[in-house]
Amino acid sequence: VFEGLQYQEPDEFNDIRKKLSQDSNGRKIDVSAGVYRDENGKPYLLKAISQAEDILHDAKRDHDYNFCLGIPEFLNAAATIALGEKLVKEKKVASCQTIGGTGACHLGATLLSNFCNFRKFYIGTPAWPNYFPLIKQAGGEVIKYNYYDSEKKEVDFTSILNALESAPKNSIFILQLCCHNPTGTDLSQEQWNILTSKMKQKEVVPFVDGAYQGLASGDLEKDAWPIQNMISKDMEFLFCQSFSKSLGLYGERVGCLHVVTSDSKKAEIVTDSLRFIFRSECSSAPAFGALLTSSISQNPELREQWKEDLEGISHRLSQVRKKVHYFLTERYKTPGNWDHVLTQKGLFWFSGLTREQSKALIDNLHVYLPLNGRVNVAGLNKKNTEDFCALIDYVVRNVK
Ligand code: PMP
Repeated sequence: VFEGLQYQEPDEFNDIRKKLSQDSNGRKIDVSAGVYRDENGKPYLLKAISQAEDILHDAKRDHDYNFCLGIPEFLNAAATIALGEKLVKEKKVASCQTIGGTGACHLGATLLSNFCNFRKFYIGTPAWPNYFPLIKQAGGEVIKYNYYDSEKKEVDFTSILNALESAPKNSIFILQLCCHNPTGTDLSQEQWNILTSKMKQKEVVPFVDGAYQGLASGDLEKDAWPIQNMISKDMEFLFCQSFSKSLGLYGERVGCLHVVTSDSKKAEIVTDSLRFIFRSECSSAPAFGALLTSSISQNPELREQWKEDLEGISHRLSQVRKKVHYFLTERYKTPGNWDHVLTQKGLFWFSGLTREQSKALIDNLHVYLPLNGRVNVAGLNKKNTEDFCALIDYVVRNVK
């Protein structure tokens, strides 16, 4: 049966994690995977989650199956957090709970590709690598364009506009809401505004991936500005939501797909399609993380605590960025311009280190990062930031 099977492309992060776990050096530094770590380098349990866990534990709930579309309180909470109360009340949103943000992307791509016959997915590079196999498996076709100008270290807006100009009607544009993975470089409000108007005019579908809502500014609503911009233009679009980062619920796999439609009748039939697809793929999504999320959303004190948690995360990330900038520019006077560590947002600093420099850090210097030079700044803290910058300085000076 399995004779014709070929080995698939290896997963860079799996390989890095393996190497990292085999490295016994006590001073090794992990800035690889996109996860938030606290000042002690440990996974961070948000206070809001800890309190919601206590409430859930006291409620002594059962473990029955949930509805195929998801837990209704969760769906309502998730849609409101992403899209705002008004749209939810107007019933213009079709929502389905998913297995994390990845599941939301997969469900959205399947809906468009296999049920709407919209198959051309435009993706700006560099991109979250998982988009490519995910779109392929959903039967879509990927068209790449350049998203990031690595010389100027800013969004390559001309390239995005050119891609949009050449895209036929019914194409799909995958865009990240904020804290772009891997570049940390987001579209400005002005750029979003131009882009969404053009997308509407060209009848191109925005497919917005929101894996980091709340981590850019520390404020969920502020980070959702691009969505409100599309809503104000009465646009139809998809929003793939993840609570992995914003609530630190990585392993609980909490996500949701929201499809925003122009009227409530359309939302009804999209909801039905989502139910149909999800039933055959997963039957129903996991309960625990979704219950924590809805419990926080329904409780004003916990919502306030979540707000504080997010502000704390976003504050720590910007403090780390400032320290890296200080060490590179003042302490080590490392050749080059390092201002982009300050301007990029969220977990990622797209450092501009070459593949050889990144490889030298991994192979010889106990620093773990992907070869594209993306640094998860949350992996840095009081204990390791200076060492990390000294090693960056070393490779910049000694490795081409
Ligand atoms: N989109 C992007 C851009 C991401 O970085 C990630 C997580 N790395 C996801 C989606 C998926 O998130 P989740 O872990 O919730 O599946």
